[in-house]
Amino acid sequence: SEDSNMMVAVRVRPLNALECTRGQVTNVVQVHSNSNELTVQAGSSADASAGVTHFFSYDQVFYSCDPDRKNYACQAKVFEKTACPLIDTAFEGYNACLFAYGQTGSGKSYSMMGIEALDDAALDGGPPHDEAGIIPRFCHELFRRIEAVRHQQLQVEVEVSYFEIYNEKIHDLLSVQQVVTAGDSTPLQQHHQHQQQTRPALKVREHPIFGPYVVDLSAHSVDSYSALRNWLAVGNSQRATASTAMNDKSSRSHSIFNIVLNLTDLSSDDGLSSDTDSGTTTSSAASSLRQTRRSKISLVDLAGSERISVSGSNGERIREGVSINKSLLTLGKVIAALADSRKNGPYVGTTSSSSSSSVPNIFVPYRESVLTWLLRENLGGNSKTVMLATISPASVHVDETLATLRYACKARSIVNRVKVNESPHD
Ligand code: ADP
Ligand code: MG
Repeated sequence: SEDSNMMVAVRVRPLNALECTRGQVTNVVQVHSNSNELTVQAGSSADASAGVTHFFSYDQVFYSCDPDRKNYACQAKVFEKTACPLIDTAFEGYNACLFAYGQTGSGKSYSMMGIEALDDAALDGGPPHDEAGIIPRFCHELFRRIEAVRHQQLQVEVEVSYFEIYNEKIHDLLSVQQVVTAGDSTPLQQHHQHQQQTRPALKVREHPIFGPYVVDLSAHSVDSYSALRNWLAVGNSQRATASTAMNDKSSRSHSIFNIVLNLTDLSSDDGLSSDTDSGTTTSSAASSLRQTRRSKISLVDLAGSERISVSGSNGERIREGVSINKSLLTLGKVIAALADSRKNGPYVGTTSSSSSSSVPNIFVPYRESVLTWLLRENLGGNSKTVMLATISPASVHVDETLATLRYACKARSIVNRVKVNESPHD
């Protein structure tokens, strides 16, 4: 195995129309031309912190505020620099993960999915639209690469699953049983209907080889980009339906899109076989040497990182807030523990077999939340992982922006131990 630092990128979205019309809102984020540094101007002139400039540096900084500027980062550029390299990673048999972190409205979903969710051309297998985000671009590029190796002696299998975590409960977004909600009932009625019509939440369990997984989660085999794109559309519409029934749900749920890539080498005369001269290309001796490489790729759109206000009198709302905080809070604890272990020596996961030989001196609380349990391998484990932190440039959001940027700095020091998932075929 080898060490792999978590790659951390930051993306600054444009001021929106509302912010632009409000005279008092200014852009407080500057991105420097070398594209991995940014500064934030803190505090208004009335503030004690007025004039303080905070400096940050990351692996990548994407300035997406002004299309007329030379260093403007469009959707294609963000994909090319963050997710695209993970396709090579997957073909090599490493696990991969990209997750978007930031306050609600900072551009997580725009970056991950883009605004082509129901783009007809994409559903027909056409290339992603200019505004398409990382997930459709990743899927399109993945199948372009698969087509490129099809003529070789390589059997490729792709399987997708898609679910969300809301209130520490897991809901399959690709189950064939659709969630149906009435169009003209009150939000509370819709909520109850939603609760009744949704199947019970799914559970997490531990697989001896593959680690934590969601029990009974549907997985769908796909053999083309358009087939995959259709499942994505199903999941996105399930997600939208559920969030309409429960106002504001999308900002408080985490969505996880998983792709499993299985590569089997079908060539028997690769030099490993002892009977290459015999002329039999499919002898049992040769087939037992067939190698399977497996990669699991997780593309994650996290819940809004803002501290959820509990000022409302609605009890349900507060409970949701507390639970959402639990997954994000635990993610913060996990990142902090892993960042510390960098300084203090090796860490152990709560149940990770791969690190059982390490000296147990740092406790990483993976199992304290559903999110961190499921992403355990991606956080300090066997995965090449990218964090995309999204921020608003608006002065009104400066506190959340600084919180996100500090969180992202901490994540930068995480080191994963990666190894190829390879096994002889049987
Ligand atoms: P989040 O998922 O973090 O809550 P969204 O991705 O929904 O935020 O973004 C909020 C709004 O800002 C959306 O209308 C989105 O289209 C827009 N937006 C976000 N990032 C960008 C960007 N880089 N360029 C243009 N529009 C953006
Ligand atoms: Mg969103």
